[in-house]
Amino acid sequence: MSAARGTSAADPGTLLQVAVTLPVDGTFTYRDPRPGARLPLGTEVIVPFGSRQVTGFVVGHPETVAGPVRDITDVVGDGPAIEESILALCRWAAGYYLAPLGEVLRSALPRGERAVASRRMRLTEAGRRLVELEADGRSHMAGITLDAQDRALLARLRAARSLSPTALARASGGATARMAHLVERGLVEIVDRVAGPSKSRRKAGPAASTSAVEPPVLNPHQQAAFEALRAALGKGYSGHLLHGVTGSGKTEVYLRLIADARAQGRGALVLVPEIALTPQLAARFRARFGDDVAVLHSALPPADRLAAWRRLRSGEVGIAVGARSAVFAPVHALAVVVVDEEHDGSFKQEDGVRYHGRDLAVMRAHQAKAVVVLGSATPSLESFRNVQLGRFHRLHLPTRANPAAAARPLPRVEIIDLRRHQLGPDQLLAPGLAQAVADALAAGEQTILFLNRRGFSTLMHCRACGAVLRCSSCDVSMTLHRGRAKLVCHYCGRAEAIPARCPACKQDALEGLGTGTERVESVVRALFPAARVARLDRDTTDGHRDQLEKLLARVHEREIDILVGTQMVTKGHDFGGVTLVGVLQPDQGMHLPDFRAAERTFQLLEQVAGRAGRGDRPGRIVVQTYCPEHPAIRFLRDHDYEGFVRDELARRESASYPPFSRMIALRLDGRHEASVRATATDAAARARAQAGNSILVLGPAEAPIGRLRGRSRYQIWLAGTDRAKLLAVARAAAEVTLPRDLRLAIDVDPQSVL
Ligand code: ADP
Ligand code: ZN
Repeated sequence: MSAARGTSAADPGTLLQVAVTLPVDGTFTYRDPRPGARLPLGTEVIVPFGSRQVTGFVVGHPETVAGPVRDITDVVGDGPAIEESILALCRWAAGYYLAPLGEVLRSALPRGERAVASRRMRLTEAGRRLVELEADGRSHMAGITLDAQDRALLARLRAARSLSPTALARASGGATARMAHLVERGLVEIVDRVAGPSKSRRKAGPAASTSAVEPPVLNPHQQAAFEALRAALGKGYSGHLLHGVTGSGKTEVYLRLIADARAQGRGALVLVPEIALTPQLAARFRARFGDDVAVLHSALPPADRLAAWRRLRSGEVGIAVGARSAVFAPVHALAVVVVDEEHDGSFKQEDGVRYHGRDLAVMRAHQAKAVVVLGSATPSLESFRNVQLGRFHRLHLPTRANPAAAARPLPRVEIIDLRRHQLGPDQLLAPGLAQAVADALAAGEQTILFLNRRGFSTLMHCRACGAVLRCSSCDVSMTLHRGRAKLVCHYCGRAEAIPARCPACKQDALEGLGTGTERVESVVRALFPAARVARLDRDTTDGHRDQLEKLLARVHEREIDILVGTQMVTKGHDFGGVTLVGVLQPDQGMHLPDFRAAERTFQLLEQVAGRAGRGDRPGRIVVQTYCPEHPAIRFLRDHDYEGFVRDELARRESASYPPFSRMIALRLDGRHEASVRATATDAAARARAQAGNSILVLGPAEAPIGRLRGRSRYQIWLAGTDRAKLLAVARAAAEVTLPRDLRLAIDVDPQSVL
């Protein structure tokens, strides 16, 4: 505790540059009043800010300061919360993403590591007794005198059981000297709420032995890729794109490279899109490296996450595997950074600090002089372009790894043109696909049916008056969920009872339109009554990690014949028994008003296609579409990723879209449409005044979802090739005066147009 107050000219104390965890620009100077103290960079502190107490991080030691400075209130923890390499990464991110450094630093810490959550003040036994005596008016019996403020503080603590230092500093009006005094008198104590890992971790933990599994002999393609990476290890930064068809054994290459790094006593960081969806992958790391792996997933209780974080930091554990936020994991002596499925959209953080986990991972490797490997069967156009520009080396795995599957080419994709082939009476499956499912069932093989929309019907309308049931706080239609018997807004989560009559005309004429996975499941059950059918989407798994793992295990064990699902079925699953993949309606996704729509559709379809024929039997892929000539379908036929990319890059180049330009989206929202529009207009005018000829300013325009959670939304898009200029224009636009209720977010390298 730093307890001194005020400033004195004789002892200037130590000046500290502090980045506060508030959405404010810049850093602020404070003073550490303890003589001779010098808090290391990255130390978390509590400081007064205006009338509040906020957390912040020490990011510099200025020599002098103009004007008076305030003292820090408290120091959190025994050492820096953020080590210097992570601080450097955060500084870069703050500059690149135009985000306040303190906010970036906060997102770099696991929840439990933050002061607010980790440290608590509470009454000691003596303190509790004293408060009781006080209540009886007998406090004089304890021989301790308390003034009114002390009494109020103790009562507050008793009521709350425990309080964070910040909350307490607020309660005491920042009078930490008073708090320190209560601690000294033994009435209040500080406890570390996250003292040790919970039992669940031990239960989930693997046996301590490593290398229980004998690694397979690499095939020649894997061997060549591995040799190239191994040669780069320890030779400074280098970037590699591991482009391998689905099931080509990319993971095996990562494992070997990491084993080499570990043999040299150096660490590795592995980013995966959604770790909960691929427990198998984490299990493979565990099987190979045992306790040397920290698996960081969002379902981990804060205490376990914190414990994992500390083991990484101490170097006790050398490998971190996790989703996007693991890019900040404090891996020791980092030598290898892997981003698996690097094209995946989930690496982009869509609120708060809007960073891209993949891009930050590359920067982290750069700063650490490490080898970075981006792996994918369908690399992003950005990464492919970086290969063309010589920034990444491309390593290619053209065949499947499993020897039985390697002997066969990838299965050709059969396209059913729905303009010529009618759907069956269920309006869902064309006869060709229904027959394929029946054949797979007869052969005892498994099927995946992919449709990227959940729910039963995607909207409800009235046959009598044409009204569509819309969310009352968003500009979207409600989705019918028959199982839950609810209408649900997929954007804000609002759920409502299904009305018996049309709310507009009061007639009994409501019906569902458009198909979601729930209806697919019910149609499939009716068509194939003997089949064991399951559904994988957010509705069947949300919040139930166990359920998800159980479902995936049942598919592995071939207890499921037909798995129906959303994009969740496309992710890296390695189901040996799946031979048929049916894609129901890719059309909606590929026609979205988004310049990345074709790329996303191609990636999604190629990924789901990759689930077929991974085992001993050949696979079959059937796509039903109204638009077979669309590039995402045309090139899918022969899994011609390169053909698709060349075609798509040409289109992007002629339109000056990324990766041939950079973009920044300014997103404004507020309760009142007129005020949002006016502010957006003002911001766009400021952008244009700054833009000159080199930066294109688009908008302001209402966002495709014009209202979300009761807030109107406008966007301004900036595009250009001069990054510094682009940032300057964004900064100029963001200087617009914001009315009280308005929010403005800067989204650098935006991935979503919504
Ligand atoms: P990817 O990461 O490219 O999708 P995986 O690494 O998951 O591919 O490999 C696909 C399957 O092939 C896995 O079941 C894996 O165990 C197996 N496999 C990988 N490499 C080999 C190899 N050299 N020999 C035999 N099987 C392999
Ligand atoms: Zn809504």
